[in-house]
Amino acid sequence: MTAMAMACKPDLIIFDEPTTALDVTTQIEVLAAIRDVVREHHTAAIYITHDLAVVAQMADRIKVLLKGSEVEEAPSRQMLSAPREAYTRSLWAVRDFRPAPRTGETAPAPILRIENVSASYGAVPVLHDVSIAVPRGRTVAVVGESGSGKSTTARVVMGLLAPTRGQVVFDGRPLPPASRARPRDLQRRMQMIHQMADTAMNPRQRIRDIIGRPLDFFLGLRGRARQDRIRELLAEIELEPDRFIDRLPGELSGGQKQRVCIARALAAEPDFIICDEVTSALDQLVAKGILRLLDRLQRERDLSYLFITHDLATVKSIADEVVVMQQGRVVESGPKEAMFTPPHHPYTELLLSSVPEMDPDWLTGLLAERAAGRIADAEAAAQASLGGA
Ligand code: ADP
Ligand code: MG
Repeated sequence: MTAMAMACKPDLIIFDEPTTALDVTTQIEVLAAIRDVVREHHTAAIYITHDLAVVAQMADRIKVLLKGSEVEEAPSRQMLSAPREAYTRSLWAVRDFRPAPRTGETAPAPILRIENVSASYGAVPVLHDVSIAVPRGRTVAVVGESGSGKSTTARVVMGLLAPTRGQVVFDGRPLPPASRARPRDLQRRMQMIHQMADTAMNPRQRIRDIIGRPLDFFLGLRGRARQDRIRELLAEIELEPDRFIDRLPGELSGGQKQRVCIARALAAEPDFIICDEVTSALDQLVAKGILRLLDRLQRERDLSYLFITHDLATVKSIADEVVVMQQGRVVESGPKEAMFTPPHHPYTELLLSSVPEMDPDWLTGLLAERAAGRIADAEAAAQASLGGA
């Protein structure tokens, strides 16, 4: 996309969140490429993003907007070290949502076990001997770059793709590979929330029908009982029932759509939910609201989450355990504390070192270190995994 934008030798390019949907390792390459291109061609650029650590690497000046008005503008270094306005300081602070620590220790028995699962699309193998256990009432985060097999793992669990080897065990019972062969009550107990709230909902259905369908299908609720439950669910995800019940998905913001998708999953009264990149398309303030909501629901209902994400800041805040995937394999797994304490697997090291920091010299420094071979780059990490495999 950058090459296309450069082709007509423009004087100005506007980059609108070009790396928001990318994982950290891919993001670094794109950021470095954009920066080089802008410098080499003496092009001016406006870089729009909600990620302050990214803006710290890319911009000479920063302007902060709130509800259509300017909050402040200053040279990047000045704004990063001494933001003038309270709103700007609040943006700096949202990087960390910290749920209350758990009481009562030793992880409970797993509600879900993925046992030695391999899977392919046609003849192309994608998952290799993947094993993951999700304890009841806990959150297991699955991280890894784009294409590492995270969503494919989710599809196998949900019965949308049959494994070529291995099995999925739910609450002690091995599950039939295809979702339609699973008893309806088991289907009800396992729900999934998708990355793209946009495409996950029928654009012509009103919110009452979107949330009402699982109530009808799984719980047989009709008429008054169904209406009441829809309103309760809307209140539970913090959307005012009267304002939202008759809207279409197109009449909601990104965060509101994701809340409706959460309500639809909750409607089935599940024990276990797969969250596939549920906050990846959202800005940090909205994402924080969603994470807080998921955390509250987990505590109230003893829900278990398999939380797929490429965002390590999210993992740090919500996970109890972490599974790192690369090229269809699990390369590291364990409690979150262990994951964020060295020594790491080289690929985990690469992921951790790729998370942008607020220091404006961070990207330049990292690229120099990698070029000099002092820290792991993508190639070294891949070699190490192949050696280990
Ligand atoms: P992730 O969710 O970690 O980004 P995916 O599980 O979506 O990764 O993809 C893993 C691999 O499987 C990728 O190489 C991707 O190109 C491939 N893949 C995903 N979906 C399909 C499909 N429907 N048909 C063929 N290949 C696919
Ligand atoms: Mg995916």
